[in-house]
Amino acid sequence: MNDSLAGKTALVTGGTRGIGLAVGQDLKAHGAEVVLLARHAEPVDGFRVVACDVRDRAQLEEARASLESLDILVANAGMNKRADAIDLGDADLREIIDTNFYGAFVTCQLFAPLMLRKPGGRCIVTSSIAAVHGQKLRAAYGGAKAALEGMVRALAVEWGPQGCTVNAIAPGFIKTPFAQPYRDANPDRVAAVIAHTPLRRLGEPEEVASVVTFLASDAARFITGQVIHIDGGVTAGSDWW
Ligand code: NDP
Repeated sequence: MNDSLAGKTALVTGGTRGIGLAVGQDLKAHGAEVVLLARHAEPVDGFRVVACDVRDRAQLEEARASLESLDILVANAGMNKRADAIDLGDADLREIIDTNFYGAFVTCQLFAPLMLRKPGGRCIVTSSIAAVHGQKLRAAYGGAKAALEGMVRALAVEWGPQGCTVNAIAPGFIKTPFAQPYRDANPDRVAAVIAHTPLRRLGEPEEVASVVTFLASDAARFITGQVIHIDGGVTAGSDWW
């Protein structure tokens, strides 16, 4: 790799598995010092891991107090529970909104002041194609991710004058622990996803991570307020018709 991010400090929420871990590894491979944050602070080789639930403002404040500086913030922690909208229980609805939207919002709100001390800050938020591509059983999740994309555009406007970019990545179906139970239980649906994906396959966490590293780099310094879909072309269209 190269050291294009040498001297930069990065924080990745939801960084101990899946997309977040791949992001942390790629940022580190480019020279950044990376802190991972998750509810369970199991050790991850080569990283400092901070235990924190993004749904809890006090825990996020404590996590922020342990950082001296920050150049790259990746608000990635997220989850979903699939259910018909009519049946989705209130506790699950709150958990989906609190993790995917409230957690990301407060993460940005609390950590941004560290990034805004000097120009060059990079804030990257993990959305999903569910924000723009209606998917059954995911109404609350898609709604929370769509809200995130609205937040990203507003933050880009608020923080742009201080030289900080704010962008979202919107992955399609990526092979992570998050998606594994669905893959195991629904092989026919996975085959249908692949058949409706122009590139005819699922994505790898590393294929998301490389885009985050690009957005974190100097090469992306004039990109802000954007959503980049990393989905093999799913949101571009389909040849079924
Ligand atoms: P994983 O379930 O594989 O990993 C989730 C990570 O987030 C873990 O590190 C987990 O650690 C952490 N996490 C979960 N809840 C919290 C919380 N409340 N506070 C702090 N950390 C938390 O998920 P993915 O890597 O697949 O997903 C990452 C992001 O990508 C999510 O925002 C998801 O919505 C999004 N996404 C994923 C897609 C996919 O196909 N995989 C598609 C589109 C979007 P711990 O359990 O210890 O807290």
